[in-house]
Amino acid sequence: MKKSIIGKLDVLSVFIAWALLIVFFLALGYGKFFSAPEDSATHLLYIFGAFAGAVVIHIVLAFFNRCPHCNKCLTVQGFKAPHPASSGDWSKVVWRWFSGSIVCIHCGNRVNINGL
Ligand SMILES: [Zn+2]
Repeated sequence: MKKSIIGKLDVLSVFIAWALLIVFFLALGYGKFFSAPEDSATHLLYIFGAFAGAVVIHIVLAFFNRCPHCNKCLTVQGFKAPHPASSGDWSKVVWRWFSGSIVCIHCGNRVNINGL
């Protein structure tokens, strides 16, 4: 598989995870205010399960989604602060992914996403 496709799928799985997390908390809040205590909450379990699935997909794909300059995972920051030349933390990288190029949070080099 082409590396640029792995990168796109990786970032997509992060977006899906974020969306599911928002949906989860909305459903949680909705259930708290608008449903009876005896109502079933299994849908919350399904939403959370889907979220966990998206996170697992992200972890697997992120392992292969590496910077061509320093060979570190582009969407995994770890506990170190991002490189000063980058535009922010790993979530910024994800957010800007589809603009075509991002700055590596590890080495500060510009990475052309479609040229991976
Ligand atoms: Zn790098």
